[in-house]
This record gives sequence, structure tokens and C-alpha cells, in this order.
Amino acid sequence: MRIVAGYSGRVSSVLFRNIGTLLSGYVEKPLMHADSVFVRDGVITEIGTQPEADTIVDVRGATLTPGLWDAHHHPYFGEYTPRAEGFNVVSRTVRSGTTTLVSAGPAHQPGIYLPSARLPNVQAHSRAPQSPQALARDAVGTQALAIVSAAAWQQERPMGVKCYAGTVIAETGLQPEHFRRMAAAGVQRLKFLRPLPSSAECQQMCEWARQAGMLVLTHTGGRALIQDTRSIRASLEILQPDVACHVNGGPTPPPLADVDWLVDETNCVLDLVFHGNMRIAQHVLRRVGERGELHRVVIGTDSPSAGGVNPGGVLRTVTLLANLTDMPPEVLLCMATGNTARGFRLPGGRIEVGQPADLVVWDPIDGSVTTDMLGCVAYGDMAVPGLVMIDGAIRMHGDPRAIDARRMPLVEAAWGFAVP
Ligand SMILES: [Zn+2]
Repeated sequence: MRIVAGYSGRVSSVLFRNIGTLLSGYVEKPLMHADSVFVRDGVITEIGTQPEADTIVDVRGATLTPGLWDAHHHPYFGEYTPRAEGFNVVSRTVRSGTTTLVSAGPAHQPGIYLPSARLPNVQAHSRAPQSPQALARDAVGTQALAIVSAAAWQQERPMGVKCYAGTVIAETGLQPEHFRRMAAAGVQRLKFLRPLPSSAECQQMCEWARQAGMLVLTHTGGRALIQDTRSIRASLEILQPDVACHVNGGPTPPPLADVDWLVDETNCVLDLVFHGNMRIAQHVLRRVGERGELHRVVIGTDSPSAGGVNPGGVLRTVTLLANLTDMPPEVLLCMATGNTARGFRLPGGRIEVGQPADLVVWDPIDGSVTTDMLGCVAYGDMAVPGLVMIDGAIRMHGDPRAIDARRMPLVEAAWGFAVP
């Protein structure tokens, strides 16, 4: 046996042992009573037992959680994020403990926004195709972008990230056969973002999308999503979203009464984001808590946004909400893992036999007065990953600048040295 540092790669079996705190990913029962997790061929196969393994990760009393999910991400392609001029954003995201991204629509492609003087009016908008400057702002372009985005992220996975990029932005003119074709190409979600002309057409699109197995997502800001409705509330009543994206604003939330309507009168998933209004996020958490519906809340970043990109934004949001509310950090972490997977009907986000081994070992950042991850988050300090695994492959092992060397997980390969 030897200790290897910086090891990266997939092995057939890995045993995590000496786990101090084990998080399930289920808000209903966030903490598990076991000190070991066994992974074979990229899947969690045993919990609480210690079988022979190719690789042993001694986490030295640290916390093991499912990899975090960003429930609201706007992907471009690969590592470059043009809107925020950010490079290596995805790798930094994985190194920050977020292993899965869900697309809220490919909304930031260069050329997708028109200079305001050239913005088409509603009548022009309803007559596709538009001016050549309006990239993907018609039924043909939006399908193409969604299909390419979904396919590209299956191939290009910096540091093994999982990006569910198959989200199409609703544009007028989409037909039932378009939804069927997109679904076959891996598009799983329809997102209403920019105002469209007609309630009747939007309602039809929701129906066709759901028939094709897609979820319906809505932008949930301060403006109407359909031109022939008066308000965001009236638009939401027509669309009946499965997921209300950034109910705390992106950039602005809807009026509080409309937030309450979403919470009280619908069953939709409620997305809270880093680039939003934390006062409204507090309000939503309190209200869903009173209703006993914590499973409905997911956490994202809405990155990139006017506020930039935030590779560590999911954990930061969890930490802020833990400080602003009475919600225990373990519950908030389950909102940022299992809730998101369940809300979007996707595998992962949970530590459970049969789930993919997307796992993160956490400790307080070096110098913190706290001694474990949950205490660290509750106190308001930053927790840092000591090891990140995606699909059974160790993608990152420690960061000597961030983590106390005495806490670094020990990776022992039974078969000798592994090439990074
Ligand atoms: Zn967004």
C-alpha cells in the first residue's frame, strides 16, 4: 500500500472509510449513520461495510456528501464563458465541489442578444425568421442550439463534470414534431424566457413538450412572459411550470404575492439562486418549511449573470442561507443535491446503493475555528473539498493552499502508483 497524492482516474473499486459525517441527499433524512461507502464501477454498491477495494480513501473524520448540483446554470461550450469572459470556469466549479450542472437554457451565446435599437417588436418577433443578427431567436435556431448544446456536453466534460444541457428556449413557431425530434436528441426541458406573443401558442407548447417527456421551466422575474397577459402571475397561471426558475430573482424576483402563489397554490419546484434576492430566498424557505415541503426547493447560481461567474456559488448560497435562516446546513445541502436530482427527474445527488458515485469529501478551510463541514457552514466559514469523485473517478485530491494538511484525505492504492 502506498499513499498517492494528485491521483486522478477511475478504478474498479473504492472504499471511503473513517467518515465522520455522511450526508444522504434526502431532505427527509439528511444524515446517515455509517462510516464507510463502497464504490464499484462508478456506482455506490455498499454503505456501512468495508469490503476489499482497489483503492482506499481514508477521509480522517471528514464529511462525505453527494457532489453539489447547480440547478440553474447557463452553459456555453466547454471551459469558456463568453458573457463573463471567464476561462476554466467548469474545472473551477468541479474543484469547488459542484459536480453536476442543469441548464436553464443556452441564453448567453454571442449574438443571441440584439442591440436594443434593433430589438424586434412583437409583430416582427412572431414572424420567423428574424434578422440575421438574432441568433437562435426563432423556432429553427432555438432547436439547433438546444440539440448542439445537449450533444456537446455529453462529449466535452471538463474534469468529468455532468452538465445536463438539453434545455430549449421557447420560441414562437415550435411544432409537435420539433419536440419529438428534440427529445430524441437529448433535450429534456422547455424553458420560457423571452416574452412570446400568444397564450394559446404557449399553452400548446407546454402540452407538446410534456407529451415528449420534457419538463416545463419558466423564467420567474418581474415581467410577463407572454405578451397577451398582464403580468408574470398571469403568465405563470397559463404555463403551470414544473420548475419556477430563480423565484428569488434573476435579476429581480416577481412581486411577493406571486412568489406566495407559486409556493401555496402550485406544486412546482422552487429554484433559489446565488445571483438573486436573499430576502426573498429567506421568505421562500420559511414558507416551504411551514408547509412541510422542503423537497420542493433547489439551489443554483444563475451563472453567468451580470454578477459574473461563481464556481463556488452553490456552496456559498447554502452558507448564506444557513446564516440568514434557521434551516440546518444538512437540509440546505440536501436541497443542493438530492432535491435537484429528484426535481429534474435525474439520477444522482444521493448517497444510496445504485446511485452514481459523485462524491465530495469536505472539511473547514484551513484556519477556521470550526472542526467539521456542517459546523463550518453554520458558522459562515468556507468549507473546502479534500477530494472530488465523479462516476467513481477521483477528479481532484486536495488543495494544499486551502485545506489543513492534517485533514487531507489519504488515498491508498492497493496495486501501487497510479498515473495522474
Ligand atoms: Zn438564468
